[in-house]
Amino acid sequence: MMSVVLGAIADDFTGATDLANNLVRNGMRCVQVIGVPDGDPDFGDVDAVVVALKSRSCPASRAVADSLAALGWLQKLGARQIFFKYCSTFDSTDQGNIGPVSDALLDCLGGSQTVMVPAFPVNGRTVYQGHLFVGDRLLNESGMQDHPLNPMDDADLVRVLARQTDHAVGLAPRPILSDGLSATRQHLSTLQEQGVRHVICDTLDEADLATLAGAVVDMPLVTGGSGLGQALPRQYRLRGWLDDVPEPGRLAPGSGGALVLSGSCSRATLGQVAHFINRWPGFALDPLKLVEGGEHLDAALSFAREQLRVKAPVLIYASADREQVRQAQTALGNERAGELVESALGHLALTLVQEGVGRLIVAGGESSGAVVSALGIRTLRIGNQIDPGVPWTQAHSTYPEPPLSLALKSGNFGGPDFFTRALEVLQ
Ligand code: ADP
Repeated sequence: MMSVVLGAIADDFTGATDLANNLVRNGMRCVQVIGVPDGDPDFGDVDAVVVALKSRSCPASRAVADSLAALGWLQKLGARQIFFKYCSTFDSTDQGNIGPVSDALLDCLGGSQTVMVPAFPVNGRTVYQGHLFVGDRLLNESGMQDHPLNPMDDADLVRVLARQTDHAVGLAPRPILSDGLSATRQHLSTLQEQGVRHVICDTLDEADLATLAGAVVDMPLVTGGSGLGQALPRQYRLRGWLDDVPEPGRLAPGSGGALVLSGSCSRATLGQVAHFINRWPGFALDPLKLVEGGEHLDAALSFAREQLRVKAPVLIYASADREQVRQAQTALGNERAGELVESALGHLALTLVQEGVGRLIVAGGESSGAVVSALGIRTLRIGNQIDPGVPWTQAHSTYPEPPLSLALKSGNFGGPDFFTRALEVLQ
């Protein structure tokens, strides 16, 4: 059986892709699996496997059970190091799930210490003296204090994590990191002798990430954001664990009709929709019409078929401004409006892929989840980056020949020309 170097467990779908993208950019061949697979994998040569869970905001006991199931599966693949990936804003509550999941993974791996490296300096997420900053704001003044599921009202991560675990939490401060790799290693080992099991790591820049990666490469478990995923591959290469692969993000050529489905109402996505319909026609999905029956969806399908017939890219979008979304939500309820859109996007994707769409772009985290699930996709091979955090991917096994290419974008990601440029990049 093939042996992977890094096995990652991500607590949400787009976070998994973000990490996978950074691994590929730094020379690792990578696949992302959605949920814990039942059987043995059939995805050929890879260096890293990222399991995408939905464990960020569920009860801690569920997050632990799912994460341990993922760990068991990754161990069978021979993963040399396990990476527990969470958000760079340390999204969690006093009940978890970062502390309980890290403890359970460490117990199972028989390790005595792990590190917490949430920082992602290129995205403005840094940690100093254990305090997490988003740009020039402390975490608790960054907007994250109002998050609907896991409000972050304390920027002191040592304190935050101490509320989630019974074990000792310590700090690897910047002044030690600045003294270099051996000082950092020595500091971690002193903390270990003192019984400190979790170490929050300061990180101001790429140099700190490189130092940390060197200090933690031999730990059975590391935890953090996708920033650490940029720095670890170099260490694996220095250890001789990785072959030099000239094009780790190489995918089969994209083919088939091009379809963009947009269910995100973020500012970035609205700009991308506007940019696209300046050049090509698009079809606006209206949740208020979707609720009336199948005619609206049939009209969307007819529009798509006509565009595909003349070999033009298709855009179908529910993306709407705040006022339109408010109207739909007032009439239907927030949940029902969302469900109607998501199920329509899933139906359109499945129908049109069966009719020959081979290149599919989806805007929106939840929307991407709905489409991937409607298509029954369980494994994605990660390709080259389109825009920061968003790579092209290719679905495996369900659609063997030719493979279905997918770009799954969370709302705020991507430049204004994302949809059209993504298609060019795939060429
Ligand atoms: P993002 O990544 O921007 O948060 P998501 O797809 O995760 O995007 O979430 C957007 C949510 O809004 C989805 O549940 C989607 O179904 C819903 N939605 C999309 N368009 C509309 C609309 N016109 N009215 C109401 N809800 C909508």
